[in-house]
Amino acid sequence: MGKILFWTVVIIGVLFITRLIAHYAAKRQTKIDKPKTGKPESLGKPEEMVRCANCGVYMPRSDAVKQNEQFWCSTEHAKAGVKEQR
Ligand SMILES: [Zn+2]
Repeated sequence: MGKILFWTVVIIGVLFITRLIAHYAAKRQTKIDKPKTGKPESLGKPEEMVRCANCGVYMPRSDAVKQNEQFWCSTEHAKAGVKEQR
């Protein structure tokens, strides 16, 4: 009789522990999911990249110097003009 009581307690204990583990795993998963579903799109659209017509370096459009319908990395390159492509 003692053996049956022992195994009943063990089985109930195991079931209780597995339920607890599942509960905490689910809780942890929702915690992990929350930042993922946060707002990655709130960072805004990536800025358009433009190429310097002189040295060919790429830079964000807002950092580029626009002159004569072309983009330049600096005013010096804008003054220097288009370098011949190799
Ligand atoms: Zn340049």
